[in-house]
Amino acid sequence: MTAETASGVPAGPDTPSGPGPGRYWLEYAWLGTHVEPGVAVDVRDGRIAAVRTGVAAPTQGAEPLRGLTLPGLANAHSHAFHRALRGLVQVGTGTFWTWRELMYSVADRLTPEGYHRLARAVYAEMALAGITTVGEFHYLHHAPGGRPYAEPNAMGEALIAAAEEAGIRITLLDTAYLSSGFGAPPDGHQRRFSDGTAEAWAERAAALRGAPHARIGAAVHSVRAVPADQLATVVAWAADRDAPLHVHVSEQTRENDECRAAHGCTPVRLLADHGVLGPRTTGVHLTHLAHEDIRLIGRSGTGTCMCPTTERDLADGIGPATALQRAGSPLSLGSDSHAVIDLLEEARAMELDERLRTRRRGHWTAAALLRAATADGHAALGWPDSGTIEPGRCADFATVALDSVRTAGAPTRLGAETAVFAATGADVRHTVVAGRHVVRDGVHTLVPDVPAELAAAIGALNG
Ligand code: ZN
Repeated sequence: MTAETASGVPAGPDTPSGPGPGRYWLEYAWLGTHVEPGVAVDVRDGRIAAVRTGVAAPTQGAEPLRGLTLPGLANAHSHAFHRALRGLVQVGTGTFWTWRELMYSVADRLTPEGYHRLARAVYAEMALAGITTVGEFHYLHHAPGGRPYAEPNAMGEALIAAAEEAGIRITLLDTAYLSSGFGAPPDGHQRRFSDGTAEAWAERAAALRGAPHARIGAAVHSVRAVPADQLATVVAWAADRDAPLHVHVSEQTRENDECRAAHGCTPVRLLADHGVLGPRTTGVHLTHLAHEDIRLIGRSGTGTCMCPTTERDLADGIGPATALQRAGSPLSLGSDSHAVIDLLEEARAMELDERLRTRRRGHWTAAALLRAATADGHAALGWPDSGTIEPGRCADFATVALDSVRTAGAPTRLGAETAVFAATGADVRHTVVAGRHVVRDGVHTLVPDVPAELAAAIGALNG
């Protein structure tokens, strides 16, 4: 793999900060289809070298992970700075669009230094919740007013550094954001997001470099923010690099109405007609779709990223995720606005929202939801080499306690059900990334006091 592409197996060591222990012993492991007791995992250069089952107790030198170990969780959609809005935006009434004004007021105050500090704390919070890879949908590129920083990628580099310091992997989805809506120039807040043209976006983004813990992808903010005649440039940039391409789609009915008025079609149809859909592409939200949209997404192999805790927080609606999966679209999950950072809650919410909508149970199995939170989420972020506990894969694990007040008493053979329907992120006891123990017994090993770091970073931002 070349450093700047986002797929394939990296050459050289894959350990962000040196190798972890050579062997872990998993009391219980979820192996994709079932829970296996007593699993020994050998780790070499940050990758799984061997997996042996039927190992009743930890052997000499093996570090025990007690509880149920899952592959590391992939948070496929994040805007790290939205974490500063948690709690702040719950007063009063309004819509997505009034929430957006508050979100812009936080964006206005971010500097590369402040964003680095905030993102480091947010990514550390993710590690505590078992998240080993984040997909950062990053559009806050320039200084207020739109003036480029001396280092044009200062903000993106701050996020890559923050992930490394928090001990997790990142796919920086550098986002094209050029318009306030269907060709209108960016408004005051949005000038920070815009490179002016897709060509200028492509040139700046091409200077970003990956690292052992970081891969670079692309994003189209939305059909609102990238004019149709500039979509092809972003598509070509991602294709040249075999990189993932993400796009917000139809989160709000207003976007659909405005797209119809401007182009006479739905956002999905517009994206399809401009070559945006395909197996490397993930549509985020996909809340308000027509039957034809579902068919276009499924037939093209485009992925679906749902963010149910944000979608309920912002009163977006419930997207047709079951129909999208049936049509052939793989599912991934994201915490998006970080009203909650808990991939287990995102997974559970997928099924529970469908139960409310249909008044029936059993739309997804726990195993299917865990695959969305692990292997399929990693694939959507250009890490097809992570998300399962198999030889050759990244040694990334999240261990859920089976003896907490929430999980105690559940049959261990139903561990996947316990993880999805009983546990929360607070039950994650260990997080291992590239063989390194990033969270041990619920304590972050690199960021000593994550709540204090969050409070300081958010306090500095919000005054
Ligand atoms: Zn988003």
